Amino acid sequence: MDGTVSKTALHVMFLEDNEADRDHVLQSLRASVGQSFFVEHTETLAALRVKLAGRKPGLILMDLCVPDSVGLTTYLRVREMAPDVPIIVQSGLEEDGIASMALHNGAQDYLVKGQYDADQLLRAIRYALERSRSTAALRASELSLHVASIGSNDGIWDWDMDGDQVVVSTRWLQMMRLAAGERVGSGGLWRSRVHPEDRAPLQERLNAHLLQQTEDFTCEHRILRGDGSYVWVRSRGVAMRDATGQAFRMGGSLTDLTAERSRAADISYLAMHDALTGLANRSLCLERIEHAIARARRPRALPCAVLFVDVDRFKVINDSLGHMVGDALLLALAARLRAAVQGRGSVARLGGDEFCVLLEDIAHQSEAAHLADAIQQQISEPFLVGSHTVYSTVSIGVTILERSHKSPADMLRDADMAMYRAKQQGTRRLQFSDSGLHVAALERLYLETELHDALRHDEFFLVYQPIVSLRMGQLSGVEALVRWQSPTRGLVSPLDFVPLAEETGLILKLGRWILDRAIGTLAEWDAQYGPHFAALTMSINVSPRQLADPELIPQISSALRRHGVAPHRIRLELTESAAMENLAESREILAAISALGVGIYLDDFGTGFSSLAYLQRLPIDTVKIDRSFVGDIETDAANWAMVQAIVSMAHALGKSVVAEGIETAAQWELLKGIGCRHGQGYFFSKPQPTLAAIRDALAGRVARELAHQLPLARSSLPAWLTESNDLTLKHPARPTHVDVAVQSQV
Ligand code: C2E
Ligand code: MG
Ligand code: MG
Repeated sequence: MDGTVSKTALHVMFLEDNEADRDHVLQSLRASVGQSFFVEHTETLAALRVKLAGRKPGLILMDLCVPDSVGLTTYLRVREMAPDVPIIVQSGLEEDGIASMALHNGAQDYLVKGQYDADQLLRAIRYALERSRSTAALRASELSLHVASIGSNDGIWDWDMDGDQVVVSTRWLQMMRLAAGERVGSGGLWRSRVHPEDRAPLQERLNAHLLQQTEDFTCEHRILRGDGSYVWVRSRGVAMRDATGQAFRMGGSLTDLTAERSRAADISYLAMHDALTGLANRSLCLERIEHAIARARRPRALPCAVLFVDVDRFKVINDSLGHMVGDALLLALAARLRAAVQGRGSVARLGGDEFCVLLEDIAHQSEAAHLADAIQQQISEPFLVGSHTVYSTVSIGVTILERSHKSPADMLRDADMAMYRAKQQGTRRLQFSDSGLHVAALERLYLETELHDALRHDEFFLVYQPIVSLRMGQLSGVEALVRWQSPTRGLVSPLDFVPLAEETGLILKLGRWILDRAIGTLAEWDAQYGPHFAALTMSINVSPRQLADPELIPQISSALRRHGVAPHRIRLELTESAAMENLAESREILAAISALGVGIYLDDFGTGFSSLAYLQRLPIDTVKIDRSFVGDIETDAANWAMVQAIVSMAHALGKSVVAEGIETAAQWELLKGIGCRHGQGYFFSKPQPTLAAIRDALAGRVARELAHQLPLARSSLPAWLTESNDLTLKHPARPTHVDVAVQSQV
């Protein structure tokens, strides 16, 4: 035993049974200049144990081979006795391997006997002490972080913004259900775990703090855990800034709000949401449907629809790829569903692989069919789940609110049943709970798709119906009417596709085509027939949607220019409702059209609610009396009175009148009798593909009719009108007077 005890002397326990080795060490230690040592020497492990029980030394220097223990065991035993004391191992040359194992097990250093001098020993001791001190400091700080995070139960994070690296505490990983030691990576990666709906508010608050608008950063949000579930957390942090105020690092905490939320007011959130996907659960879904039904049953409200979405063959995926993949797929499906619905409706998970979409305020059942179609398309894109590419489809059952639906459960049940029927037909099917609706909605869906193709495939064409001067039955203009020659449906009436084109917006493209074709036709006729039809006008129907399109006027003027047609030969026909929908706006647009020199007809007059006096405010030249009034003027006194009133009022306001739908000579006579100047109808001619066909139709009909009524000066009629054939005519009502006037323009 040797050494001087001083305040700064390092207390060393020395285990060594070999005398020579012992002396070598003791001499080396004595040679030390800066550091003094107080050495307690023992020759056996047992003796060392006794000494260690008394006072802990600052260092242990030990031989691996002593009388009562050999090898690594010796080291491990000593370590056990004094876990916090730095140990330097001495070993013989042949024990080299064991000594390095001791290092792995926490020894600070090892020295090979006979191969070190005093300096080397002292250096080894110095380093051993330094290393041991820094490990202790680290352990202490780890401990305090650990204690702090246990104390607050929070996860701790530290975001180095320059290197964009986030380091987190063990508790953070636990809360996130991530494996211990898992890396979080960049700030972006961390934020990508935040629930999509919460990302914008989180970013906003983060930015506010980084821009020094707030003292700290706090945000409550959902975050995706390692097991695929979302949890509500509160993130809090404070930025460290450089001299310019620029944040370079941010540290903070993450608090699990599950307990808080379930305790407090937000208990309903958990009760109402699906833990895996964060979507509304069945309870909330039923609540929402209930609310939607109540809304839909208010006066003038639109109905709601429920889509029951079920994943095809989900069980196969779950069974073959496992529940982890199954869960991940459900999560991805939920995200796709949300994306497909995009705020048009709300999505819920009913359980398992069943989802529900609620759609409110639907104007037509095809809206539900459209949405179902969009969902099916989104879902049929492949999913990348972990290392698997998974293909999935869904079957959808739809029910639209009916009187028989007394409760939300009724709607859900009907949608479920429809989905069941859809499944029976195969995968990726759609079924409506009411088969009538189904047919109608699907039909509309198909019609829409075909309509889009029709324009590209040039399946539309125009026919022209003559508008005649009633006094003499002379041709004064034509109305262009669109037709669709569908390869699958045959000839389709505009009544069946124009409203749909209008709703979908296709009318804008179609309308532009119609404008151009009609004006082009007039130019072709001019070229073909010369000045004979130089006064012939072309009426073109314009839908409300077109009227609201700022492109309409430029389109008209460019078509007129392109085809070299004078504006006064064109009339735009708009319906009463279109013109009245937004009077102020209409007035402006109609004034601009008038200013071009193009005439304006008010179509289907009498079917809306407007009064003629009201129309006075619009720059309208002519009203067309709807054929529903004209059709029975011979038999229905009320309609006849109505027609008379319209004609006289229109004239009083300085507007012309065209009577639509004249089907008999008697109607012609009556209308002519009250001074209605122009008419149109099957009596004169059905819409025809060419001017030659119109001429033929009129020649037959009008010439015969007139010839029957009075001997005409043949020379007063255009040549084509006198090419009468010898068909006999039915009855004609005697005209009160026949005025062989020159053809007047409408
Ligand atoms: P509208 O503008 O009132 O056109 C008159 C409709 O009445 C035409 O039907 C015509 O064939 C029909 N009609 C004419 N005379 C008689 C008759 O004596 N008896 C009967 N029963 N019907 C007669 P169409 O061609 O089926 O067009 C229906 C509606 O579709 C049009 O009513 C118009 O609102 C719309 N439409 C037609 N073509 C176009 C178009 O190019 N653009 C737009 N936006 N709408 C069009
Ligand atoms: Mg019309
Ligand atoms: Mg009409």
